[in-house]
Amino acid sequence: MTKFVYAFAEGNRDLKDLLGGKGANLAEMTRLGLPVPPGFTITTEACRAYLADGEVPAGLDEEVGDHLRRLEERMGRRLGDPADPLLVSVRSGAKFSMPGMMETVLNVGLTDASVAGLAAQSGSDRFAWDSYRRLIQMFGKTVCDVPGDAFEAAIDDAKKAKGVRDDVDLDSRDLEQLVDAYKKIFREHTGRDFPQQPREQMELAVRAVFASWNAERAVLYRRQERIPADLGTAVNIVAMVFGNLGPDSGTGVAFTRDPATGERGVYGDYLQNAQGEDVVAGIRNTVTLQELEKLDAASFAELMRIMTVLEGHYKDLCDIEFTIERGRLWMLQTRVGKRTAAAAFIIAHQLVDEGVIDLDEALLRVDGVQLSHLMFPAFAMTDAKPLAKGVAAAPGAAVGKAVFDARRAAEWADKGEKVILVRRETNPDDLPGMIAATGILTSRGGKTSHAAVVARGMGRTCVCGAEDIEVGVDRFTVDGTVVHEGDLLSIDGTTGKVYLGEIPVEPSPVVQYFEGKPVAGALVTAVDRLLRHADQVRRLGVRTNADTADDAARARRFGAAGIGLCRTEHMFLGTRRALVEELILATGQDGQAVALEKLLPLQRKDFVEILTAMDGLPVTIRLIDPPLHEFLPSLEELSVKAATGEASARERELLAAVRRTHEQNPMLGLRGVRLGLVIPGLFEMQVRAIAQAAADVRAAGGDPRPEIMVPLVGAVQEFEVVRAQALAVIADVAPDVTIPIGTMIEVPRAALTAGDIAASAEFFSFGTNDLTQMGWGFSRDDVEAAFFPRYLDLGIFGVSPFETLDAQGIGRLVRIAVEEGRAARPDLKIGVCGEHGGDPASVHFFHDTGLDYVSCSPFRVPVARLEAGRAALEGGSSDSR
Ligand code: ADP
Ligand code: MG
Ligand code: MG
Repeated sequence: MTKFVYAFAEGNRDLKDLLGGKGANLAEMTRLGLPVPPGFTITTEACRAYLADGEVPAGLDEEVGDHLRRLEERMGRRLGDPADPLLVSVRSGAKFSMPGMMETVLNVGLTDASVAGLAAQSGSDRFAWDSYRRLIQMFGKTVCDVPGDAFEAAIDDAKKAKGVRDDVDLDSRDLEQLVDAYKKIFREHTGRDFPQQPREQMELAVRAVFASWNAERAVLYRRQERIPADLGTAVNIVAMVFGNLGPDSGTGVAFTRDPATGERGVYGDYLQNAQGEDVVAGIRNTVTLQELEKLDAASFAELMRIMTVLEGHYKDLCDIEFTIERGRLWMLQTRVGKRTAAAAFIIAHQLVDEGVIDLDEALLRVDGVQLSHLMFPAFAMTDAKPLAKGVAAAPGAAVGKAVFDARRAAEWADKGEKVILVRRETNPDDLPGMIAATGILTSRGGKTSHAAVVARGMGRTCVCGAEDIEVGVDRFTVDGTVVHEGDLLSIDGTTGKVYLGEIPVEPSPVVQYFEGKPVAGALVTAVDRLLRHADQVRRLGVRTNADTADDAARARRFGAAGIGLCRTEHMFLGTRRALVEELILATGQDGQAVALEKLLPLQRKDFVEILTAMDGLPVTIRLIDPPLHEFLPSLEELSVKAATGEASARERELLAAVRRTHEQNPMLGLRGVRLGLVIPGLFEMQVRAIAQAAADVRAAGGDPRPEIMVPLVGAVQEFEVVRAQALAVIADVAPDVTIPIGTMIEVPRAALTAGDIAASAEFFSFGTNDLTQMGWGFSRDDVEAAFFPRYLDLGIFGVSPFETLDAQGIGRLVRIAVEEGRAARPDLKIGVCGEHGGDPASVHFFHDTGLDYVSCSPFRVPVARLEAGRAALEGGSSDSR
């Protein structure tokens, strides 16, 4: 029979799939001998079974019963015993941390009967009633969908009636009355009384935690974070320890290093006389760990000892939840903590310096997504006076219009506005607005608040806890200044400063470092060291997509080893458009030849510049790809002119040409190699320009390495015609320059006949954008906005196949082409051009598939270098989320 329940002593940190992150790490801490309240974990497997069948798997309740009995024996108390109740928490905990997305219920086991026992045992009526009202509230919300506002309103009323501000100012009688009010609310919304059977409370809570896996906000969060939808959550049942037992008790969170900057030293928040989430909910102001040292030196010392143990054990920054119950410290959670992108690089580098990890490990601790965040621009030095200052929770420079409601923020963003979501504090319901916003500003909460944690995870700029601002429904005020919805704000997530209006932004230091400018600092040092290590270990080459000498030069500074895709269509734009028109309008080969003759010297000059910028490195030049009518004026424009009689003779001629060449489906029309076969001399002109440019550069003492790439080939016969023509031109123009001729693999048929094609092509380059379009049978421009959101909703794909290569489907075409191409020509050089070449997950796929290089836009080059290094270290492992 399947084992569904593990005592903490039975698990360990490697069992995250089964026990979730929280459960696995509670087990690990238990094994380390740290003070963890005893408990057990119900596996994710049980959750998956529950979600599939709508009921818990057979045997689960008995197994839970066994473990509960053991827990009761160990604690010397029975769950909900009227005389001396054992209370437990029922906590969600999935494989990947999903902060605040799922549910936890504390104080399970309290009933009308046991509340008296708890009061007697603890000697505090107030504590007992406080715990009971918390249970009814959390249980009501989580298990029975009672709106949280109803409870919030009741406690606010109680505070108002008494004329106090904080919940700690409510006494035992107030809380007893509040429990009554809560029970009424519970009954009103659920049609039943608050359950008085401890076991029933626990079983309902377990089921609710299972179900919370599919709560709307959890689904949304997983999509955003690319967490698979089918993992399920584990449930942890943990004996309660109490931070709300009075001033000598409390609850806190801590990091072993600063998760925002990576700086060494402990960082955390502590709240006296509080339970659970109080510390991060911003209900009262927290104190720092330094304060805690003054309040309770012994517990503080114990906490420091444990943090050292944890860092030594996990060899990384850890974050921690703890509770102090009457001077005794308890550990309630730990995990390797989330951190900002900058902190990730800095900490990895520090840990190498400290001798804790090696460079390989350090490289695996950072990723390309983080590096790309660091390449965002930042605010220029400004003498503008900040409007307010808060906690620098997630870095970046965000400028946008203030919006005070998550739904409106999403609506505004949909309309193309940049928005800053401004809230007192955020909660999971604000997620759509947080995703839509360019920046998030809150007036409450610290680095561990919901806003901060979620923003860091998403790479959104966030300033939180800007306490001077008073957030209202449609405005906020600060020192007499009123900021209305729609006013422009600039928020700096690196300094925590908030400005009215728009502050100019400047490039990131990391980008300046890539550009070769003299910049110093811990971050640049760390990036430099890890990237250099990536270069050392990676097998994949990294080239760039560049159509101009400027881009080529920049990409070279960013570490590109050549150009993988030089598009030539941009060379037909601007004033050259007229020449393309001439080519299209020309009747007969002679007319076309004249037009081509005029284009030749212009192209030659383009290529000289690019080959010079990439001197000594390969430059793959793609012959013209788009349909020629894309270079003509639009049908509408010409028709209007013709209709109003304003069209010149040439325009009337163009209109006829536009009509003649109009295609229903240009993506599948006369383009790529087909142009070369249909328009005599077009490709030959381009090849001639390339060969001449190479000869010119060579003559000037350079080392040009052009490669000619034919687009959209579907059959080797197409390629052979173009190749024969090209070889003839090269032999004529530049006989002593070696110019390999290869093809793109972007039509599925090419992938499926790659063996034949490789017999005559000297290299392959995957055009994964077209391969994806044609493989799926949809055109990117038409589908992305139209129905991709729905497809993502339905889980048809977890991420757009244009962002990350669809390894299973389109990737199969890639694998076939690599295998059959190499079988036909063992030294076949294979690369990929197109955006996937700079996408972290796709880079891993290309590494695993045995490609020689990836090619991507200049700004993605460092990201690809880093990920290629990581892919080499991971050695084909696919768990690279
Ligand atoms: P989340 O995953 O949202 O952090 P948790 O399961 O960690 O939720 O629990 C919510 C809060 O309750 C945390 O602050 C946690 O430390 C606290 N908590 C959980 N279990 C217990 C317990 N047995 N005793 C005291 N506090 C607890
Ligand atoms: Mg927690
Ligand atoms: Mg293409």
